[in-house]
Amino acid sequence: MKAVTYQGIKNVVVKEVPDPKIQKRDDMIIKVTSTAICGSDLHLIHGMIPNLQENYVIGHEPMGIVEEVGPDVTKVKKGDRVIIPFNIACGECLYCKNHLESQCDNSNDNGDMGAYFGYSGTTGGYPGGQAEYLRVPFANFTHFKIPETCEEPDEKLAVIADAMTTGYWSVDNAGVKGGDTVIVLGCGPVGLFAQKFCWLKGAKRVIAVDYVDYRLQHAKRTNKVEIVNFAHFENAGMHLKEMTKGGADVVIDAVGMDGKMTDMEFLASGMKLQGGAFGAFIMASQAVRKGGTIQVTGVYGGKYNGFPMGDIMNRNVNIRSGQAPVIHYMPYMFELVSTGKIDPGDVVSHVLPLSEAKRGYEIFDTKMDNCIKVLLKP
Ligand code: NAD
Ligand code: ZN
Repeated sequence: MKAVTYQGIKNVVVKEVPDPKIQKRDDMIIKVTSTAICGSDLHLIHGMIPNLQENYVIGHEPMGIVEEVGPDVTKVKKGDRVIIPFNIACGECLYCKNHLESQCDNSNDNGDMGAYFGYSGTTGGYPGGQAEYLRVPFANFTHFKIPETCEEPDEKLAVIADAMTTGYWSVDNAGVKGGDTVIVLGCGPVGLFAQKFCWLKGAKRVIAVDYVDYRLQHAKRTNKVEIVNFAHFENAGMHLKEMTKGGADVVIDAVGMDGKMTDMEFLASGMKLQGGAFGAFIMASQAVRKGGTIQVTGVYGGKYNGFPMGDIMNRNVNIRSGQAPVIHYMPYMFELVSTGKIDPGDVVSHVLPLSEAKRGYEIFDTKMDNCIKVLLKP
């Protein structure tokens, strides 16, 4: 089959790889119909995630049709249309039972974190979903089955695998409530969805931050948020704090590591806001009010374990973070899309054939052609 493979920094190649096979009794194989590129994939191709081998098949936001099931699979059958979450989870361990599927105890031999499709050896080493076919382990739990009556196109449903659901979880996990002022750092797909969900939770004020103008304009137009281009300020964190009269109730970091600057360059630059490992996090620690909450959704690799503890501790700031446990939210996300309460269509800006994955990565990474999110079609 054809698949998107990692071939070194900023180099992905669509090439022929062996078809996946059922390996365990509760595996299934799906024929992928759509598969999105995520901001997390950019960390991979920027070389920020360890334990990534050349020729590894990447991608973790697929959906498609069940092609084959193992003998112990009872919850889906051949021909079912499914969305596959980025989490690979057993559904039975303590973590899965307590709605933390992203930390499943049984899916990753490195038991200290959960497993994800196509995201390096560290997260389980499972091949990814930017491919014609995908092996799904723990198939009874690791899927959302789309009802047969549903006629929504993939373009509206694919984001439930990650971006939309992670946006919702960010707001939920941060405890955003009626009357809150929320600052969302990042106007990529995750940030854009988080902004939509802040309104759904009754926020009073939502401020979106980025430095890419077309993305800020998109946020303003589709999500009716206030916007701040942080590149226009010497100290954007303090500007946000003033704008919100002492800081926001919640700041959501939907940015994570900046791949344009290494951690060494960043430290040498005096930890300036515009870029570097914790650029967004430092901005968040300034822009949050005393006693407020920072929700870290943006991905930070293991090498970024230092952060501005003084500002956080002395101002009673709460930090919440993690890999989104998306599986248990998927039915609710589906309901929001199928009843028209949330239109995720405005986030997918490009639909390309899988064979053009290289171009998809390029425009998403370099923010060309007003790109917000790319959906690949095998
Ligand atoms: P993206 O790369 O499209 O979006 C990131 C946006 O942040 C870009 O528009 C960029 O211009 C902007 N940005 C860069 N530096 C900034 C700063 N200092 N302040 C404000 N904005 C800044 O990616 P995405 O798909 O929206 O994902 C966003 C982040 O969420 C990534 O780090 C991704 O890895 C992470 N993520 C986490 C989870 C999870 O479960 N925790 C799931 C999905 C994605
Ligand atoms: Zn993702």
